[in-house]
Amino acid sequence: MPISEDLYKRACRVIPGGVNSPVRAFRRIERAPFFVTEAHGAHLKDADGREYIDYVGTWGPAILGHAPECVVQAVQQAAQKGLSFGTPTPAEVDMAETICRLVPSIQKVRMTSSGTEATMSAIRLARGFTGRSRIIKFAGCYHGHSDSLLVAAGSGALTHGEPDSAGVPRDVAALTLVLPYNDENAVRQAFKKYRGEIACIIVEPYPGNAGFFLPRPGYLEFLRDITAQHGALLIFDEVMTGFRLSPSGVQGLHGITPDLTTLGKVIGGGLPVGAFGGRADIMDCISPLGPVYQAGTLSGNPLAMAAGLAQLRELERIDAWSRLESLGARLEDGVSKILHDAHLPYVFKRCGSMFCLFFTADDVVDLQSAQKTDFNIFRRYFLRMLDQGIFVAPSPFETGFISTAHSEADIDATLHALSHAL
Ligand SMILES: *Cc1c(COP(=O)(O)O)cnc(C)c1O
Repeated sequence: MPISEDLYKRACRVIPGGVNSPVRAFRRIERAPFFVTEAHGAHLKDADGREYIDYVGTWGPAILGHAPECVVQAVQQAAQKGLSFGTPTPAEVDMAETICRLVPSIQKVRMTSSGTEATMSAIRLARGFTGRSRIIKFAGCYHGHSDSLLVAAGSGALTHGEPDSAGVPRDVAALTLVLPYNDENAVRQAFKKYRGEIACIIVEPYPGNAGFFLPRPGYLEFLRDITAQHGALLIFDEVMTGFRLSPSGVQGLHGITPDLTTLGKVIGGGLPVGAFGGRADIMDCISPLGPVYQAGTLSGNPLAMAAGLAQLRELERIDAWSRLESLGARLEDGVSKILHDAHLPYVFKRCGSMFCLFFTADDVVDLQSAQKTDFNIFRRYFLRMLDQGIFVAPSPFETGFISTAHSEADIDATLHALSHAL
C-alpha cells in the first residue's frame, strides 16, 4: 500500500477526517490526500517519494518557496537562544517597527499566533472602540473561524453549505450582516437600515478565499468613504494579500488607509503568526492600556518573529514583487492560450503571484459568480494536474500562489501539464 494511503488510514482513526484543517482532506475531490515529508523551493516531496510543483504554498506563507535558507537559518539561530520567554523580546520590537514602516496605515500593531486570532481581535476592538455591535462582512470573504466571522465565509467553509458551522449561536450570527461583494447599494442600504449600529466593515480587499476576484473600480474607495461617514471602522483583512501583492498589500496598491489591518501568512515565514494594527488611538484601546481584552501566551514568539523578519527582509532585498509579477504574467499568458485553444469557458483572475482559474464563461466579481465554476471540469483538471506532478489547491474556491522559488521552467512545465489536463 502506498505510504500516504496508510498514513491517511492511521490519521482517520485519531484525527477527525484525518486532517488538522478541512481543505487538506481533498474530500470533494474524492481522493485521499498525499502526505508531504519535505519541501524545498517550489517543490514538494510526498511520503511515497513523488514530487510536485507546488501552487498551494502552504496556503500563502511560502512566498520565497519552501525552506528558504535565510528563514531556516534565522529560526535555527533563534532556537538556540530559547523557544519562548513569556517576557517582551527584542525581535517583537523589530517586527512591529518593520510592519509600521512597510504599511503606513499601521501606527501600532499587536502580534497573534494566527490570522483567525487577528481578525477576531480586530472585530472585538472595533466593537469596543465604537460601542456598536453589528458588523458587515461580504459573502465569500473568509476571515478565519471565529463565531462572528463564520457566516457565509469562503475557503473550506464554502463547501459546507449554510449556516457555515454548527455551534455558532444564531444570536451571534445575527449581528453579522452579510452582503454581496462589489455591490455598493447593498452597503448603502445596510447603513441606512442600521444607522448608528454598525461597528465596522471587514473585507478581504482582493478576496482570495472564494477563488480570487477583484474589486470594481472605486469600490474599495467607496467602502473607505461610507465607513468614515457613518463613524464605522474599515478593516482590511490582508492576512492573505499583505506583503504578497506589494510591500504594503492591497492598501498600498490603491492608496487607501483602512482604520485597522489584519495580517498573517507571509509575515510568519511558515510559522504560526498573525497581527492586527492600525490607528494608534484605536489600538490604544487594547489591554493593558484600554478596556478591550486581548492576549496570547505565544504571541510574538521569538522563533516566529525571527522567521517573519527574515522573510520580510529577503522580500525587500530581492524586490520580490517584480519577480512575482513576471512569473505570474508568464503563467497567465500560457493559460490564456491553452484555454482558448481548448474551447473551454474560463475566467483567469490574477494579480501578481495570486491567481485563480474558474471554469465559467461569465466574469467573476463575487461569490455568486464564482460558484458558477464547473466543478466536474475542475475535478478532472485537478486530478490530471496532480497525476502530472502539479499541485494546485483541491478546491475551485482557493487562490493559487506563485513563489520567488518558482523558475520559468517550473511555469512552463505547469503549462505543458495543463495542456494535457483539460
Ligand atoms: C487564512 C486567512 C485567515 C485565517 O488565518 P489563519 O492563520 O488560518 O487562522 C483570515 N483571513 C484571511 C483573508 C485568510 O486568507
